[in-house]
Amino acid sequence: MSAVMQEAAPQGAAAMVEVEGLRKQFRVRGAGFGAPAKVVHAVSGVSFSLQAGQTLGIVGESGCGKSTLARLLMGLIPADDGRVSIAGANLSQDAASLKALRRRMQMVFQDSFASLNPRLTIEDAIMFGPRVHGVPPDEARARCHRLLERVGLDPARFAGRYPHEVSGGQRQRVNIARALALQPQVVLFDESVSALDKSVEIQVLNLLRDLKEEFGLTYLFISHDLNVVQYISDVVMVMYLGKVVEIGPAEVLYERPAHPYTRALLASMPSMDPQRRTLQAPISGDPPSPIDPPSGCRFRTRCPHAAPVCGEREPALVDAQSGGARAACHLLDTASGHPLAGKELS
Ligand code: SF4
Repeated sequence: MSAVMQEAAPQGAAAMVEVEGLRKQFRVRGAGFGAPAKVVHAVSGVSFSLQAGQTLGIVGESGCGKSTLARLLMGLIPADDGRVSIAGANLSQDAASLKALRRRMQMVFQDSFASLNPRLTIEDAIMFGPRVHGVPPDEARARCHRLLERVGLDPARFAGRYPHEVSGGQRQRVNIARALALQPQVVLFDESVSALDKSVEIQVLNLLRDLKEEFGLTYLFISHDLNVVQYISDVVMVMYLGKVVEIGPAEVLYERPAHPYTRALLASMPSMDPQRRTLQAPISGDPPSPIDPPSGCRFRTRCPHAAPVCGEREPALVDAQSGGARAACHLLDTASGHPLAGKELS
């Protein structure tokens, strides 16, 4: 477990989410007839742990492996290697284990409409999970109405409506109520507020914060929006081409990012302050293909500080010099052989 999370956790507390060496590759057909299959390195050895009650924000550009990681954590696809444990129970692919996982961990997707069955009323959609898990109908209905009220939707007005009869923001509130109906300990949000208008987004984020306190939840929050992640997260994990490049307490990582990729991402954050606006793109081009990632450090083809050692050896996650964050960059290791290692960079 990283020092970051040990500090934030009560003494002796077990991690709520523990992930060790998680890997996933996909085989894709090569271009052209008879071309050999290629391998997409989607998630390449991701490890982290998260204490109960914390929110882990997971950020990175599209194609960095965030969504594959989400599907692995939910058991929606099997991992090639590695271990996931939620509330002390190891995830495996057998049906009983997956059913037990659903009770502990639920997910809220980006597309509020696609994730609801258009033929089920809101009440039926929210009651569905508890009913599958054996909750009697009256109890499931009472739970549904309590949750609707809690997410700001009057059950008398909304329970009998269909998904197309409510707004996008209201549908996402329904999805949140549906996720909580199984009384999970962990909720995973995959770009869950990305499709909402800004004014609705902040209301939903505040609701999520309140619900976390009230129900003692632990959140995994995947987003490409660095402002949203900063607002909601205790700990932030930055991914690049299937790997973790930096992880640390949100306030440390946003104030003193240690990895060149994290710095570039944060420099590209839109700022309301005209003094802080960047005129040049701090990071150029798209990430390389995960089919054939660069050797050594995967960020080296876009890094302004790349040196020969960066192509020869993969940097390990080490303590960054400031504030409890960890980052994977040869600049942070004075013994790495990088000519700028240990020096202050502009
Ligand atoms: Fe840049 Fe090298 Fe650090 Fe990678 S290891 S981020 S290429 S300096």
